[in-house]
Amino acid sequence: MMIRSAIAKRLVSSNSSSSSSTSSSGWSWLCQKTSSSRSSSSLVGQCLNDDDNNNKKLEFEFDGIGKTSKSSSSRWFHSASLGGGGGLPSSMRAAVFREPNKPLTIEEFHIPRPKSGEILLKTKACGVCHSDLHVMKGELPFASPCVVGHEITGEVVEHGPATDTKTIARLPIGSRVIGAFIMPCGNCSYCSKGHDDLCEDFFAYNRAKGTLYDGETRLFLHSSGKPVYMYSMGGLAEYCVVPANGLTILPKSLPYTESAILGCAVFTAYGAMANAAEVRPGDSIAVIGIGGVGSSCLQIARAFGASDIIAVDVQDEKLQKAKIFGATHAINAAKEDAVGKIMTFLQCVQSVKDGGKAVMIGLAQSGSVGEVDINRLVRRKIQIIGSYGGRARQDLPKVVRLAETGVFDLTNAVSRKYTFEESNDAFQDLNKGNIVGRAVIEIM
Ligand SMILES: [Zn+2]
Ligand SMILES: [Zn+2]
Repeated sequence: MMIRSAIAKRLVSSNSSSSSSTSSSGWSWLCQKTSSSRSSSSLVGQCLNDDDNNNKKLEFEFDGIGKTSKSSSSRWFHSASLGGGGGLPSSMRAAVFREPNKPLTIEEFHIPRPKSGEILLKTKACGVCHSDLHVMKGELPFASPCVVGHEITGEVVEHGPATDTKTIARLPIGSRVIGAFIMPCGNCSYCSKGHDDLCEDFFAYNRAKGTLYDGETRLFLHSSGKPVYMYSMGGLAEYCVVPANGLTILPKSLPYTESAILGCAVFTAYGAMANAAEVRPGDSIAVIGIGGVGSSCLQIARAFGASDIIAVDVQDEKLQKAKIFGATHAINAAKEDAVGKIMTFLQCVQSVKDGGKAVMIGLAQSGSVGEVDINRLVRRKIQIIGSYGGRARQDLPKVVRLAETGVFDLTNAVSRKYTFEESNDAFQDLNKGNIVGRAVIEIM
């Protein structure tokens, strides 16, 4: 493949063997070639952009959530009338997705109330991520209306009733915290083995139904009491409820705004590098698509001691910035290889070194299918691995520590800041490819 030869050319000068990756308008891939001491290599891919004009109608069965919401909202009013959440305002604003390709609407809600094992946060900042954009463009089916936003920092303001004392001691009122977008239930068969990234309840309730793990949302409109669903914690809001297992403490030395990206972009990059690609010192990495996650991958690869770090994108501006994040080589795929989106998955898998790993780290449009050369897969022992986020309880504290020690450069990773009122501008800029690195919406 041409991309493969382009990367090989870059690596000749650094006395290493081949690895490669490809990029089209939005697919982002990471390809890792190991040092000679290991025979494997890896390639990670994520889909960041899709067709603008494919607005699939979302069809969801809500399993009677609409019916149950009446009882939950009346319970909510009961608890509010008893003075629950004393000292909190009676309402808050949140950004609501109602229909594909329509702007988010800022709407008034009752202050959400946490249940057992859950924490109410005053949200401080929320990152601007392609996963939300996929939902907003109708590319990923999700319950609607919903509050988007899943990359947050905040301050603990309330514990759900009957939350265990250990959790309260770990996350006392007033704590500065960061939330992982995958909020593990802590009890399912995967969580009990430490595979937080596969949490059954997270996928069954949050991703499939837009609720928390009792099958109910915590968000109710102030005017009508009607339920609104939650993408992760529904973090693009002045307050949000997060299962405690998804939270870790944010040290005082780290700022609320920039640290928001630790909960998705950096968390995802860390999960892919540590758990899926298993990057080791001396490995070579190629990252295709230098957006928020891709640029975080470069930094994590550098932190893990990768020797050759190849950035591939179609925008020179992003490639230029990639060098700040640790890229040792840069390839403009638009100049060196024009790859159609349909071909990208195949190209990426073909680009990985024999015995290597192709790790897919992002989401494609719902229903997207990739092709694989089966005989090469078999004969050359290629591994194709999916990696979604990271393991909240194990990985997020390590991600925070990387930022705290300056190994991960948060300041440069966040390139733009928006106010809460500018939320739609932020997603529009993301959609146009105008954000180099990551943008964050400040809510505090
Ligand atoms: Zn995200
Ligand atoms: Zn679980």
